[in-house]
Amino acid sequence: MSAGRALNQLNFDNSYARLPESWFERRQVQSLQHSHLIAFCPEVARQLDLDPCRISPEELVQYCTGVQAWPGVEPLAMKYTGHQFGVYNPDLGDGRGLLLGEVVNSRGERYDLHLKGAGQTAFSRFGDGRAVLRSSIREYLAGEAMAGLGIPTTRALCLLGSEEHTLRNGMEPCAMLLRVTPCHIRFGHFEYFFYSGQHDELKRLADYCLQRFFPQFLDAEQPCAAMYREVVERTAKLAAAWQAYGFVHGVLNTDNMSLIGETFDYGPYTFLDQYEPDHVANKNDHQARYAFHKQPSILLWNLAALAQAMLPLVEREQLEAELDRFQGLYEAAYLERMKARLGLQSVDAGDQRLVDQLQAILVEQRIDHNRFLRALTEWQPGHAASDRELLAFVERPEALQAWLQQYRLRARQEVASEPIRRQQMRSVNPRFILRNYMAEEVIREAHQGDYRPLHDLLPLLRHSGDVHPGFEHYAGPRPQWAQSIYLTCSS
Ligand code: AMP
Ligand code: MG
Repeated sequence: MSAGRALNQLNFDNSYARLPESWFERRQVQSLQHSHLIAFCPEVARQLDLDPCRISPEELVQYCTGVQAWPGVEPLAMKYTGHQFGVYNPDLGDGRGLLLGEVVNSRGERYDLHLKGAGQTAFSRFGDGRAVLRSSIREYLAGEAMAGLGIPTTRALCLLGSEEHTLRNGMEPCAMLLRVTPCHIRFGHFEYFFYSGQHDELKRLADYCLQRFFPQFLDAEQPCAAMYREVVERTAKLAAAWQAYGFVHGVLNTDNMSLIGETFDYGPYTFLDQYEPDHVANKNDHQARYAFHKQPSILLWNLAALAQAMLPLVEREQLEAELDRFQGLYEAAYLERMKARLGLQSVDAGDQRLVDQLQAILVEQRIDHNRFLRALTEWQPGHAASDRELLAFVERPEALQAWLQQYRLRARQEVASEPIRRQQMRSVNPRFILRNYMAEEVIREAHQGDYRPLHDLLPLLRHSGDVHPGFEHYAGPRPQWAQSIYLTCSS
């Protein structure tokens, strides 16, 4: 393993900046006054071949805020469009973020560096091009929490604060987030070329994506169809992961859909405190279009929008056949996730029913299912105190008691010993879930200039299955005051 690099030694190779100029706007970062580094992620640094110990906070801030030119960077704002709340909007694009460039690491992996909050671009419409501290902290935390749960996600190299303010819910401090992911191509990139009638460019975009994200299909009989098939599969698996962990994205517009199936563009997201299928994370979503239980069908809708945009590339029948696979793929992936959470590896004809029955109990009794599944992980059947702990999750115990009995019989079929099963269950049943009240507390203190609560929370999210002495209260139910937290698109 080669020694890690410093920031000015990153191996930039900016393939997107070599595409036609009409695909983006070249734009420099608009400097952000009096900025400082709030947090950086050593794991993401290593993905970029950076040595975390060689990252100078001053240098990182100067590079991100455009005070000093970052060697190898070629900032640009991408053009894309998309369907927002079901309606096509041709006027989208990076309105407050810039793709700084792409870093290729020693393993040949390519990562986009995208600076969110970098100032106005040609696609800002009426926006100021800025991101505020509140939403930037929420996106930073979300990336770490999802990565900790093993759910595909974008992450960030760092989070910057500033003394500059802008108007949102009153005046709020500005911030920047340096997002890192292999892919910033959204479903909306395809929609842009399709709806503007640029079908040659659409073909070129598909070729670019094949080369870059899906090279395994370049020699396929129909590479674009194979790519679409893969996108359907990844998206179905992503939906299953969200539903298994009670994650509500909040704004599932097609411009927020990553082509590689990562959770992308965090806004008013929520991890459910109680299992409420009709929970809506974004208070501006008056139609409840993006309610928790609708997410799989909305992702299917979004995949259909992508299929529409790919009609010049792939036969309609083929796209429809791939879309028809979604529901089966989703259900299989969901069952797999839930079985893992229940510590069941072997196959039994009754497994689907067992999961369905548990789900019915979760819904009926509005259970905090992440806490429940963790308690189930530690359950000692027959020990009165342990039984009581589980039954305390419900008001009417009969259905749960019957289910627990079935579950216990089913678990006996497993080959793995009880301690091994428990260990496996611990790895997928977190003690700590990023609840909105935790983010609110972190934000409240950050607004006072205290970032310690943020730094205290990060290890809990990154190692969410471990015991964290001194922070066990975060493993408990949400406090009463948290019921009134109010989230909107405003960011
Ligand atoms: P979002 O709701 O964050 O997915 O953003 C939807 C669209 O609005 C994207 O094209 C963003 O770039 C743009 N946008 C959001 N906030 C701002 C802002 N403060 N300034 C300029 N454009 C913005
Ligand atoms: Mg977005």
